[in-house]
Amino acid sequence: MQRHAPVKPLWFCAACAHGWPCRQARAELLAEYGTGRLLGLDMADLLTEATADLTRLGAAPDPHHMHVRFLGWVRKPTR
Ligand SMILES: [Zn+2]
Repeated sequence: MQRHAPVKPLWFCAACAHGWPCRQARAELLAEYGTGRLLGLDMADLLTEATADLTRLGAAPDPHHMHVRFLGWVRKPTR
């Protein structure tokens, strides 16, 4: 069970109220997924969902900021 879960559609953290994924959520996700491509794929889906939610709420986020927030901390898979 992930305590630092996103509160949708505003995408802040349920535990610490920072923008999701907060530092702790990132650590939990990295621990849960380990290395590999799945985390990046899932975070890309969540990035799309969050961008759509925030845009619908009239708070269209900066695409570069969102990319860094959702994917900037995900380790690239090694080939
Ligand atoms: Zn949190």
